[in-house]
Order: sequence, then structure tokens, then C-alpha cells
Amino acid sequence: MYDVIIIGGNLSGATAAINAAEFGANVVLIEKNEKPFFPPRCGEATEEVTAEILNLDKIGCPKNQIKQITINVSSKKEYNFKVKKHGIYIIDRNFVEKYLLKHAEQKGVEVIIGSRMTNFNPPNEIVLDNKKILRGKIIIDATGISCQIGKRIRNDTELKPSDIGVCIQSRVEGNFNPNIMKMWYDKPYAPFGYAWLFPKNEKLANIGLGIPGGQKLDLSYLLDRYIENEVKEKFKVLHTFHSCVPASKPLEPLTKDNIIFVGDAARFANPIFENGINNAVFSGSVAGVIAAKFIKGDISKLTIYEELMKNKVKILKKAYYKKNRLTTEEEYIKSYRRTYSLLSLLNKFFPNILQNQFIKIVKKDKKILESIRKN
Ligand SMILES: Cc1cc2nc3c(=O)[nH]c(=O)nc-3n(C[C@H](O)[C@H](O)[C@H](O)COP(=O)(O)OP(=O)(O)OC[C@H]3O[C@@H](n4cnc5c(N)ncnc54)[C@H](O)[C@@H]3O)c2cc1C
Repeated sequence: MYDVIIIGGNLSGATAAINAAEFGANVVLIEKNEKPFFPPRCGEATEEVTAEILNLDKIGCPKNQIKQITINVSSKKEYNFKVKKHGIYIIDRNFVEKYLLKHAEQKGVEVIIGSRMTNFNPPNEIVLDNKKILRGKIIIDATGISCQIGKRIRNDTELKPSDIGVCIQSRVEGNFNPNIMKMWYDKPYAPFGYAWLFPKNEKLANIGLGIPGGQKLDLSYLLDRYIENEVKEKFKVLHTFHSCVPASKPLEPLTKDNIIFVGDAARFANPIFENGINNAVFSGSVAGVIAAKFIKGDISKLTIYEELMKNKVKILKKAYYKKNRLTTEEEYIKSYRRTYSLLSLLNKFFPNILQNQFIKIVKKDKKILESIRKN
């Protein structure tokens, strides 16, 4: 019997495994992909606090620092925000994910790659595709949007189409300004969503778009138009993928008996911006420590995880209700134009206002993580 079984080996699963093992638990991690996180199904944009938690400088992860964010809301008008105080980076998730799994092994985690969980018999039994059965005292569901454990034991994991961000992204070779990341809201490229160009360096960028599900649109066509608009000179598409991200409220409760939900499985991606790297790392790390402390008897209930995530859940729910208030395209465009006009005005007097707000939240996350690791 393992202390902790983690299903899913990306950011939330790998950080959960490392933290649980560091705090003395006997951990196994199951990841179905032979080559974890390749190609990276992500725009790879994150901020300095998460980069610090992941120790990106120390592990030598390639990253591109962004100096300006250019936002366009369905028109020729652009809003430009200089990024001076807090770093925003386009990271290399493939590098990070590979490193984290190796690091987990060094910490004593048994990492099983290329094996899929096919069934779960509550409370302890995980069945793999090779029919092998693993038993664990605590199970962490880090399976992303598919929420594989959750969908077998609870009836609130199915997402309605409008609560799913349906995405397409290409890795594009061309000439890019590595300092500027771009976002384009709504039409003509991403109705009710946004398109992005996140440069990895002068020659490479992640260019994609995400829209709420349920719209019958040809994403490849929209992405081609967006790439043509943004990349004027010669370019080459290296690869393209379709993928989804949750754009819903977080799961409540976040634990059920001996099971903890983390990352996208817990619906921790932001329903407006659809960024989930920081919350995957935060929730995975916290869940790992909580699981190990519970096993050792240092804490008496897993629901402490929920208490630590309370503020996060509140913020994400608020974003979800805000998103859902905008039902017509007119309201959507008006609201985003109003927000970014105001922010760009405020930014003249209070530079970094946009990042300051965001970074405040992530700094709180880091403090919570540090405090449970200490106590
Ligand atoms: C196109 C796109 C662009 C994005 N861009 C950004 C961005 O720029 N910045 C940002 O912050 N966020 C971004 N996100 C969101 C971010 O990628 C996710 O929030 C984050 O990857 C969640 O991590 P996770 O570990 O919880 O889940 P996932 O990354 O989904 O990992 C789940 C893992 O579980 C494994 N798994 C699933 N089922 C099983 C099973 N039965 N058995 C074994 N293993 C299983 C999967 O193979 C997978 O490796 C983007 C998302 C998309 C789709």
C-alpha cells in the first residue's frame, strides 16, 4: 500500500509528488504519456513568483522575459502596458515537466510513465491499463480537465460547453519582437475569447486562440488568419494542436474522503484568462504537503487543503460570475474595452498596476505554501 498515489504527471501532479515525498510519504505517480508534455499544450506564459517556486533559474530552464503587453479588443485600437516591475516569462514547459519528474524520482517517488489509469475502485484501488492494481491511502487527481478520478466518484465534474476553453495553438518559426506579448480579444479571430502571440525568442512563438465551447467555428481557419495578421514576413508552422482548458468554477468540495483534486482537475484555471500554470503549481504543492502530513499524523484531516484554498476558490468564482454576466458580444467587447481603457489610463499614473494586482495574489499563494511547509 502506497501512502499517496498521484494520477497525472504534469505541473500539478509532479509538484504534488515532489512535496509529498519531501515530507516523508511513500509516493507513486502515474502518467499516461510516454513523452510527458510534448508538444507543450500551453502558451507557457507565467510570472516571476511561479518561476521562483519552480526554481527556473536554478534548474536552467530557458525563458523569455516580456517587457510589454499589447492588448487589442476587436479593433485597431491597442492598449500597451510596459512590464517593468514584475517579470512575466514565456517558459519552456517541456523542460520544466521533464525536470520535475526527474526531480520527483530523485526524491524517492516511483514514477510510472506510459501507463494509464483505467479504473478506480474507491477508496484505495487504482487499476492500470496493464491490469496492475495499485493501492494508496490517499489519491491525488491531477489528470487535468478530464478529472479522471472525479468523474468516477462525483456528479459535478462534467463541464457545459461554455465552461470549456476550446483552444488551438501553433509553434511558429518567424521573426518576432521577443519583448512583446500580444493578446487579441474577440472578433475576428476569437469570438468571446482571445488570441495570443507569446514569443519564446526572436525566432519562435506560441500563437494560439481559445474560445468558449459550443460555437461552431473552424479554429484552424481563425488561427491561420490571426497568424497572417500578426506575422507579416515569412513564417513556418512547426506543429499545431487542439486542446481544452476548464473555464468554470473550481470544484467544491476540493476533497472527497481520501481524494484530493488539484490543478485543472480541480478547475483551477482562471475562467477569464484561462491561465492555470500558477494554480497548478500552487495547488499541487500544497496538496502534496497536506497528504504527507496527514499520513504522518501531523494533521488530522485532509480538508485543511480546502481551507488553504478558500481564497483561491473565492477569486476564481468571482471571475467565473463576471465572465458569465457578459452574454452578448456587444457587452463582452464593451466590458473589455472599458476595463483596458481604464487600466491603461491608471497605468500612466500608477505604472505596473495590472501586474501589481496579479502578483499580490500569487505572492499570497507563495506565503501559504511556505507556511505549511514550515509548520
Ligand atoms: C492551449 C492552451 C494554452 C494555455 N496557455 C497557458 C499559459 O500561457 N499560461 C498559463 O498559466 N496557463 C495556460 N494554459 C493552462 C495550463 O496549461 C493548465 O492550467 C495546466 O497545464 C494545468 O496543469 P495540470 O497538471 O493540472 O493538468 P494537465 O497539464 O492537463 O496534466 C494532466 C496530466 O494527466 C495525465 N492523465 C490524464 N488522464 C490520465 C490517466 N487516466 N492516467 C494517467 N495519466 C493521466 C495527462 O496525460 C496529463 O499529462 C493553457 C492551456 C491550453 C489548453
